[in-house]
Amino acid sequence: MPHCPICNALVHLRMTFEHPATVTAPFCSDRCKNIDLGRWLDESYSVPDADRESDEDDGESYSEGS
Ligand SMILES: [Zn+2]
Repeated sequence: MPHCPICNALVHLRMTFEHPATVTAPFCSDRCKNIDLGRWLDESYSVPDADRESDEDDGESYSEGS
């Protein structure tokens, strides 16, 4: 069982109606997902040198298409 990178809670990946948290993977909840999103947005904004332009395209967390 993976742990939420934000609050370290167990992440339930089971596809059930009782635990729709799977859509927020790898986070335990939508709240933690937003916290993480805000974190790296804040980080990228605070980085002074913007040499890299397309380094965000690798987004591992957002390639859950298929
Ligand atoms: Zn969490």
